[in-house]
Amino acid sequence: MSEALRRRMVEDQLVRAGISDRRVLDAMGRVPREAFVPDALAASAYADSPLSIGGGQTISQPAIVALMLEAARVAPGDRVLDVGTGSGYAAAMAADMGATVHSIERDPDLAEAARARLKALGYDVAVTIGDGTLGLAEAAPFDAILVAAAAPAIPDSLRRQLAIGGRLVIPVGRTRQRQELRRITRRSAMEFDDVLLELVAFVPLIGREGWPDASGGG
Ligand code: SAM
Repeated sequence: MSEALRRRMVEDQLVRAGISDRRVLDAMGRVPREAFVPDALAASAYADSPLSIGGGQTISQPAIVALMLEAARVAPGDRVLDVGTGSGYAAAMAADMGATVHSIERDPDLAEAARARLKALGYDVAVTIGDGTLGLAEAAPFDAILVAAAAPAIPDSLRRQLAIGGRLVIPVGRTRQRQELRRITRRSAMEFDDVLLELVAFVPLIGREGWPDASGGG
């Protein structure tokens, strides 16, 4: 049943949204999104929308997760940092695609729940509780960094923790309803390319370089 719903999500939402990376589409067709949402929302797990996961936080819309993985060019063997573990879904996707995944979450309750869920489902993801605006220096450098919350500016620590050739995909903006999803690619030690991918609406990234409080956000 959920396999059919995933197939439909891939065809009706992701392919239509322009996602073409076969590795991303295949992983979206495998990872059971219903296991990452509260039981009461399981029936809506494959809807084309973000869903509440408690603590004022959300699991991102499937097309946005797919877009971020595609834009970050996640490939087997990549070292990936997922900032804002939330439910663990995006981290599970990257792990399913063959990456070595570290994930960091500031909310201890969400982090513990995601750690248990990922383990129970068999995804090998190292979940750390902490401020993702600082990255995860002990596991750097990363081939890809995915940030699932909006920052007012690109945190320097995240740029610095990219490997040469590494990609950082992050929503950037100061308004809560609309931010720019950007991809920063590290060309050399000091050179970075920066492209605008899409306009998005994420919850805020909280931290030293983040927003002053945790309320609101999409
Ligand atoms: N990727 C998640 C998923 O698949 O369920 C969705 C993440 S949700 C949109 C954003 C998450 O970022 C929330 O769980 C929030 O607690 C977390 N967050 C916000 N600021 C953070 C920070 N500075 N460091 C780490 N996590 C943070």
